[in-house]
Amino acid sequence: MNDAPIKLLARARPEILALQPYSSARMEAGAGAIMLNANESPWPPVGTDIPLDNDASALNRYPDPQPRALRERLAQLYGVASDELLVGRGSDEAIDLLVRAFCSEGRDAIVISPPTFGMYAVAARTQGAAVIEVPLAKGFELDGDAVLARVTDNTKLVFVCTPNNPTGALAPLTAIAKLALALRDRALVVVDEAYLEFAQGATSAAELIARQDNIAVLRTLSKAYALAGARVGTLIAHAQIVALLRRIQAPYPLPTSCVDAALAALAPSAVEEVRVRIRMLVRERERVARALAAAAAVLDVYPSSANFLCVRFADAAATYRALLAIGIIVRDVSRYAQLAGCLRITIGAPDENDALLRALARQEAAA
Ligand code: PMP
Repeated sequence: MNDAPIKLLARARPEILALQPYSSARMEAGAGAIMLNANESPWPPVGTDIPLDNDASALNRYPDPQPRALRERLAQLYGVASDELLVGRGSDEAIDLLVRAFCSEGRDAIVISPPTFGMYAVAARTQGAAVIEVPLAKGFELDGDAVLARVTDNTKLVFVCTPNNPTGALAPLTAIAKLALALRDRALVVVDEAYLEFAQGATSAAELIARQDNIAVLRTLSKAYALAGARVGTLIAHAQIVALLRRIQAPYPLPTSCVDAALAALAPSAVEEVRVRIRMLVRERERVARALAAAAAVLDVYPSSANFLCVRFADAAATYRALLAIGIIVRDVSRYAQLAGCLRITIGAPDENDALLRALARQEAAA
């Protein structure tokens, strides 16, 4: 590998590049017969039947900061090299790390394309960075030219969510590549692919990174892999960007039990089963979309490549309340730009989707 610093690195905060990162005990020496370097308890926790000391799953020991087996498995799954990959506490953590590493308070900015996932703006505002909003164009399409027109010298990150939450629309890979090319050496294009598994046939922007080092991709085990509770997310980027973020990441971001759960969910037979589930979910999404489109209370069902549908109702507040009253909870996204009257409905198991459709039919009959 060519180790010359990539130009984009110079766009990171100088104080992050200059700081001496924390060196954890587990990083300095991870394995030995007698571990006396991390101020841990020599005994397993009391009152649990957790495996014995010195087992990789022993909870009295700090976890590996970047567990090798998990990284190798994820690298294989996403088709990238393991040094291009950072694992952490959900993609939420990666968003936060990126903003903290690149954006100086009171000076720098990120670009987002609303309506989109809310955490980009929250992370930026927490850091004191500006949020430049470039609305999605007609059909909830990414407006690359409008994004470029708003980028300034102080713009460090451009977020592209694809499939986008909460609209479900996919951004073409060609549009992402074009955006990254125009922003080369200036800004990092962060492609959030939390829902990409549900976009059948779509290609990850990770394949662009070898040629375009100003692209970072976010993946997660929270959606298709059913591990939202384990909080395991992956950032895929040039190895030097990964190394930059490691400088500011918490010493032990992933709890041992979460790593174990992720490894189990990524075993080859489990991944096969996940693929079957994804196919079923996509079929359900199309079934629910068709049924909703035929309902009188529904004005629009937007095409979705994710595991949810964005639906415009004649009276979203009334529909939301009627569903809530019988214990069906959907997401009210009507306050988002361009989404007045819209609810975001996650695709559930077939019986859950049936219950939703029955409830809507009842609401119509009562109207
Ligand atoms: N990105 C998008 C687009 C999301 O919708 C979500 C979760 N709702 C996340 C990231 C965060 O996911 P994680 O569980 O990996 O932190």
